[in-house]
Amino acid sequence: KVRVRFAPSPTGALHIGGVRTALYNYLFARQHGGELVFRIEDTDSHRFVPGAEEYILESFKWLGIQFDEGVSFGGEHGPYRQSERRDIYKKYVQQLLDNGKAYIAFDTPEELEAKRAEIQNFQYDAHTRMQMRNSLTLSKEEVDQLIADGKQYTVRFKIEPGQEIHVNDMIRGDVKVMSDILDDKVLYKSADELPTYHLANIVDDHLMEISHVIRGEEWLPSAPLHVLLYQAFGWEDTMPRFAHLPLLLKPEGKGKLSKRDGDRLGFPVFPLEWHDPKTGEVSSGYRESGYFPEAVVNFLALLGWNPGTEQEIFSLDELVKAFDISRCSKAGAKFDFKKGIWFNHEYILMKSDDEIANLFAPIVANNGVEETLDRVKQVVHMMKDRVNFVYELWPLCSFFFIPPTEYDAKTAKKRWKEYSAQQMTELAEVLEGIEDFSIEGQEPVVLKWVEDKGYKLGDVMNAFRLTLVGEGKGPGMFDISAFLGKEETLRRLRKAIE
Ligand code: GLU
Repeated sequence: KVRVRFAPSPTGALHIGGVRTALYNYLFARQHGGELVFRIEDTDSHRFVPGAEEYILESFKWLGIQFDEGVSFGGEHGPYRQSERRDIYKKYVQQLLDNGKAYIAFDTPEELEAKRAEIQNFQYDAHTRMQMRNSLTLSKEEVDQLIADGKQYTVRFKIEPGQEIHVNDMIRGDVKVMSDILDDKVLYKSADELPTYHLANIVDDHLMEISHVIRGEEWLPSAPLHVLLYQAFGWEDTMPRFAHLPLLLKPEGKGKLSKRDGDRLGFPVFPLEWHDPKTGEVSSGYRESGYFPEAVVNFLALLGWNPGTEQEIFSLDELVKAFDISRCSKAGAKFDFKKGIWFNHEYILMKSDDEIANLFAPIVANNGVEETLDRVKQVVHMMKDRVNFVYELWPLCSFFFIPPTEYDAKTAKKRWKEYSAQQMTELAEVLEGIEDFSIEGQEPVVLKWVEDKGYKLGDVMNAFRLTLVGEGKGPGMFDISAFLGKEETLRRLRKAIE
């Protein structure tokens, strides 16, 4: 049975790379009829940030990525917050101590510091552990006494040198590492009575029956240690399969994507706006920046995976069907944020006029305009192919709802000729006589008048546009005048020539 997990540490806002990791886990779980677990890895109390867990949950709600089990979802394998699993970890730490797979170390931070100064590239391992203060060098009595005296200690994993470790990665294949390069990692700290990430992660993945560990590339260096831990516990048979996802790279392609890149180039790196409780800093989010969650999901899905076809637009359901973890790339994925904007534009086009009108109507109302939803929808229909975000509609469309109060000087200079006022006076008369003010009703009549008079059509239309819009932009002239209606069109025309 496929069971995967997303296991963030609540140390701040969820980075967009984390969202992609969760998305791939979700797609993998769904396409295998499996389950997705949400676990909070909060064993490092110094890095805990209040509100982060809620933020992460709200982000996934917005994105439409659903979990089956975990913090706030419940389930059979709880508790799902690591800080609530202390007793469980203690038991497993003890097991490793009893089996001689781990040992107790009393070295203080100062002592470790001194060793690092003394020995170049010091690594706490098979070569150096016998020079240190630990249960391998001290007698049982001394160890018991130190603990009884309340001395703080850590539990370290005893890594035997000379072992070839194989990490079988679904994306990278067989990754081989020699155990000699690993140090005797700290698994537990008596000071806060909590395990470190490595131990908690392995114990939880085992107890929560996780079948596949899909996570970011930054965890690949830890994977050999994790393999050794599974072996030390005797859990090789149920060890999950690994998939380490490619890094997200800066838009320029070199180096890991960071929040600073977003600030520098003006794109969000967080799903939702984030108010940092420590610094008070506010960082922009995709939601508040006007992105559709479907567009964000679609964009992220293709960062590090490709379907092997030309198809770019995928709904979440289509992604579930098409996703193939073995088609993920090993190389980092360039974070082309402009492509994200392109996706949003495509989703605007795909959404119905009704949907966009429902989002645009409140913006219209907030600008003090009273309009029916149907009228807003007509404008959306004319204009939505010109924007990437719904909020961009207002500056582009306000003239439909509010008459121009001034005329753009540059446009006027170029397009308002000495004879324009005369032509517009005549045009007003022509329009006055038209019964059917639809596009089809106006167009032939106006064109005939222009032809009879021998005017230049461009001149007439440019001036007409200036009177209705106030500048040189907008859709077809008769689209505008038909929308405004006869009365309003004539009012704007006459105002311009008075
Ligand atoms: N808590 C780790 C993180 O924040 C999870 C790593 C893993 O998936 O093993 O990324």
